[in-house]
Amino acid sequence: MAAHDARNIFDDAIGRLDQAFQHADVDQEVVERLKHPKQALTVSIPVRMDDGSLRVFTGYRVRHDDTRGPTKGGIRYHPDVTLPEVQALAFWMTFKCAVVGLPYGGGKGGVIVNPKELSRLELERLTRGYVEQLADFIGPETDVPAPDVYTNAMIMGWMMDEYSKIHRRRTPAVITGKPIPLGGSLGRDDATGRGAYYCLKELERKRNWKPDQIRVAVQGFGNAGQHIARMLHADGYRVVAVSDSQGGIYKHDGFDVPSLIHIKNESRKLQAVYCTGSVCEAIDAQSISNAELLELEVDVLIPAALENQITAENAERIQAPVIVEVANGPVTSEADPLLGRNGRLVVPDILANAGGVTVSYFEWVQNRSGYYWTEEQVHARLREIMCREFNVVYDTMQQKGIDMRTAAYVVALNRIGEAISSQGTMQFFTGKIK
Ligand code: NAD
Repeated sequence: MAAHDARNIFDDAIGRLDQAFQHADVDQEVVERLKHPKQALTVSIPVRMDDGSLRVFTGYRVRHDDTRGPTKGGIRYHPDVTLPEVQALAFWMTFKCAVVGLPYGGGKGGVIVNPKELSRLELERLTRGYVEQLADFIGPETDVPAPDVYTNAMIMGWMMDEYSKIHRRRTPAVITGKPIPLGGSLGRDDATGRGAYYCLKELERKRNWKPDQIRVAVQGFGNAGQHIARMLHADGYRVVAVSDSQGGIYKHDGFDVPSLIHIKNESRKLQAVYCTGSVCEAIDAQSISNAELLELEVDVLIPAALENQITAENAERIQAPVIVEVANGPVTSEADPLLGRNGRLVVPDILANAGGVTVSYFEWVQNRSGYYWTEEQVHARLREIMCREFNVVYDTMQQKGIDMRTAAYVVALNRIGEAISSQGTMQFFTGKIK
């Protein structure tokens, strides 16, 4: 991402704040505070490469706001990482944590690197070098990272190990998304898809849907997309279209989703098949492009791949009455009003994909107590939070006559505002309120 676009992404992010402020019950000071990330750290990470040469990588970590608790958010390894992008992502985390009521603020980190170009040993050295620079910045009570783009459970394990060595005490709660044997939580793997699934189940209840009459299209068949498609299929929903980066497939009466998952994970390819055990047969289906998938006549559209998929250019052609943003930022701010005008309901990313950070919170809680939960306990607690907060946002939307994204920001802003204002605002210090 070019620096100019990256600056826009932070401006765009805080633009949502001004919009939410009009409907929220908070002091202007709160908005002013939230426009400025609390801390931003830039680090240089020297790494000895396998051929003996030295390369110096640049990394960032931003803590946006910690009024409600330690900052929480992923670390991405990507060649296009910029500081404004990390700031925007940290800002979104503040709101995502608040909208589901977690006792966290928002943080984010990134290293400018293409990890595919590094050997495994180089990747480990880079990771440990980055943590060495962050050792006084992160911590279980201050800032708790997690995986993001191109970082995974093993990298989180290295980070936890390095931090523990530097501080000379085992500290699993410094990071989440770890491998299970190193203190990871059961149920983290499908948490994002599952959280979005619980949102849809609430909508099913409100709209009296009969699952076998509901046609669903899923863009992106990775971790989050596969899990939500699998859960909806198991409930009888008709998953009629799915896609990956190579394109999509469509079948009018719906796919057998477990077969699609089986073949995708075996062959890395999306193929229209029906499997009995491990024997798969090709079935009739239509090849479609990702653009066509978005515009299908379906009841629910689930973008679960990339940002900026529904834009001012295609928003008017979107036919699905319900869009569930599993990906971060799949609908641009220009597309939002066009979808709203056509009566489309967008379940916004900060709510719909908050299942991931919620189970990360559960991991942190388990690490701190040293008592580990069963998968059923994780699912039950996730369901309780997602259903409760979905309804808070939905009711806010209806009461204030605003779209669901603005409602999610209003709910979050009110919670953050309450925490900030309880330390006093100008009204208090000038004696205008008691
Ligand atoms: P993933 O890498 O497992 O899967 C991404 C999928 O998108 C892959 O199937 C890939 O082929 C597909 N894809 C890539 N480019 C595409 C394109 N142009 N058109 C259609 N499909 C394309 O990633 P994931 O973890 O499933 O994350 C997906 C989205 O959900 C991302 O936006 C991510 O930020 C968001 N998200 C994920 C989590 C999580 O816990 N996994 C949490 C919050 C948000």
